Amino acid sequence: MKFVRVALPLKLRRTFDYLVPEELDIAYVGARVRVPFGSRQLIGIVLEYLSESEYDPEKLKPIIEYLDHESIFEPNLEQALCWASEYYHHPLGDVFNQALPVAFRQGASLLPQDKTVFRLSELGLVTNSEELKRAPLQQQLLKQLQTEARDISNAELKVMCASPAPRKALIDKGLLLKQTIAYSPKPWSSDKVLAQEPLQLNTQQAIAVSSFSQLLGRFGCALLEGVTGSGKTEVYLQLIELVLKAQQQVLVLVPEISLTPQTIARFEQRFNVPIVAMHSGLNDSQRLLAWQQARCGEAALVIGTRSAVFSCLPHLGLIVIDEEHDSSFKQQESFRYHARDLAIVRAKNANVPIIMGSATPALETLHNAMSGRYHHLHLAERAGGAVMARQRVIDVRHQPMQAGLAPQLLKQMREQLEAGHQVMLFLNRRGYAPALLCHECGAVCTCPRCDAFFTLHQKERHLACHHCGNQQAIERQCGGCGSTNLVTTGLGTEQIESFLSEYFPQYSIARIDRDSTRRKGSLERLLTEVSERQHQILIGTQMLAKGHHFPHVTLVALVDVDHALYSNDFRSSEKLAQLVTQVAGRAGRGAQKGEVLLQSHHPEHELLQDLVNNGYAHFAKFALNERQQTQLPPASFQALFRFSAMQLDQVEQLSNQLYQHIMSLSDLNCLVLPPNTAPQARLAGKHRMQLLLQAQTRPLLHRVLHHSVHYLEHHPMARKVRWSIDVDPIDL
Ligand code: ADP
Ligand code: ZN
Ligand code: ZN
Repeated sequence: MKFVRVALPLKLRRTFDYLVPEELDIAYVGARVRVPFGSRQLIGIVLEYLSESEYDPEKLKPIIEYLDHESIFEPNLEQALCWASEYYHHPLGDVFNQALPVAFRQGASLLPQDKTVFRLSELGLVTNSEELKRAPLQQQLLKQLQTEARDISNAELKVMCASPAPRKALIDKGLLLKQTIAYSPKPWSSDKVLAQEPLQLNTQQAIAVSSFSQLLGRFGCALLEGVTGSGKTEVYLQLIELVLKAQQQVLVLVPEISLTPQTIARFEQRFNVPIVAMHSGLNDSQRLLAWQQARCGEAALVIGTRSAVFSCLPHLGLIVIDEEHDSSFKQQESFRYHARDLAIVRAKNANVPIIMGSATPALETLHNAMSGRYHHLHLAERAGGAVMARQRVIDVRHQPMQAGLAPQLLKQMREQLEAGHQVMLFLNRRGYAPALLCHECGAVCTCPRCDAFFTLHQKERHLACHHCGNQQAIERQCGGCGSTNLVTTGLGTEQIESFLSEYFPQYSIARIDRDSTRRKGSLERLLTEVSERQHQILIGTQMLAKGHHFPHVTLVALVDVDHALYSNDFRSSEKLAQLVTQVAGRAGRGAQKGEVLLQSHHPEHELLQDLVNNGYAHFAKFALNERQQTQLPPASFQALFRFSAMQLDQVEQLSNQLYQHIMSLSDLNCLVLPPNTAPQARLAGKHRMQLLLQAQTRPLLHRVLHHSVHYLEHHPMARKVRWSIDVDPIDL
């Protein structure tokens, strides 16, 4: 008797054995199988082919069918997914489930679908359309098909003739044939990859390309550090060209492309090869097709966001990660992987190099580069000749602020606006005001489901909880003392907008945050309007900072940097430094020199001064040193357990028991903080606690994680309390 061990798309940390009926007795490891599971059927993936099972064969059920007759993965993808399951302590079946396109895990075929086309029969080609003049629609359609004289897709046919009757009539008369063409991947030629001449590289770029090209053909990690506009993309392009000429595939990961179509456009202009984009804007069938095209080798270049790291690329030659520091590469729920780290594993398995580029590398990456594990190259100057924006701190102490803006900032805004330029303001808080409170007794309007203040949204006329989405009407009376004297406190983007529209009535304002871009396509529309200079003042949250190029913005202001200077999150200064440097790199890209202003109550703050005077690289060394002294990542490794449930005592009980269990392990060698309430102690009615582990080495950490997972899996309370693990968390 033969057995297969199957990973099923369940959140269970175990595999399942099935019998293989004699008539199906072939080993298809890596193939999808349909199996019975309880009263359902599931599609799983075969992990192993066994001649014995540890379970009683009498109790095992047979598989129903194989969906594939080969592995759906190329070996390095499968290895990477198995690695991820162990490293992130996430069930393998669910890793597979999340890595594959939805349609594919529902049974879609491995190859792109056969195509249906319509073409005229011999009779149809020679028939005089005049013969159909009693049926004008048919006559017109036949005439049009005769002029086109080629295969027509179903969609094209519908455009030619909206109604189905004339189409059907032509088919019934034997004039039009409906044919199925089997899918065959279009080969691309490695000797005609260029569609456009590459740029002449400057010296630093040329050094980067030639040293990176030495890495091709084997595993190696490289960091390309260069300010925005220093020509990193050109370096990637010329390196990619070498790989394509060797007939190999390239994977390019970027933070978000549906918003920056110019990224894809640039690759398409340069290369004459099939390029596939994978991003959140694709629907299930488009995503499936992209995956299929990568797998069959038809896609030479895959450009995509985080989940594109799961592309199946049998001829992989190079991986590029642009803006490698970007937090969107980390998935923040369920299977909490980091696409950069997974990409490194894939490069290693495939024995190909990986290039990480950024103006503001993550401290983790810099640490690896500085310790010699990564090759490290710099592009110090802007390729186009534009200069970095000047950065300055505005001391807002004792200043008469208006909607959080200092007089000096308003003055400089006026100057730039009058000169015909655009200005941009950042504040990472949407809404009108982050709290509404009673002026008599001080009570604050609080979301009943979370321990969080309601944000006032004046335009939409409601209070909204930014944690759980709960909304309610604006209160007119204090719930505590009954007073009607309610006042707002704090500042949100909406308030700045409303103030500036009165202060600068002659200029148009675009506010870009999650509220103003809720409708599909509205962000794209706003960004287009900004680049067409329909708006002069831009106000936005972090959202506005991501990768957009606005050459006419000459002044950028960060309205409140104190928030980041005094945060509990040890990464907040790194994030602030990245934001400041990123916006400075984007201000004044045209002929005008830009300026970045940082409003602070602590203008002498060491970090601010270091950043403004010495730049990101200098700041980063200082910050790394600090992390070393405090033994925080990357000087150590962390993992976070999160617990949540409606009942506080259950959450406390489980997290405390896990803590005690971990403390009782022999040779612990790991720092364990006692369970603590999460920064958001209650969310949507659920109480939340967390437990942080920190160790000097990864193996020490993973040993404890392994024990902990085993403990939790068998704990009766773990059915009532939701728990999850976040390995290398970036939000504590
Ligand atoms: P980054 O990716 O670092 O932001 P890009 O590669 O997009 O930089 O380059 C910024 C601008 O400079 C682009 O408009 C690009 O066409 C131009 N550029 C890059 N390299 C060169 C070069 N060697 N010669 C002339 N222009 C260049
Ligand atoms: Zn009150
Ligand atoms: Zn809430």
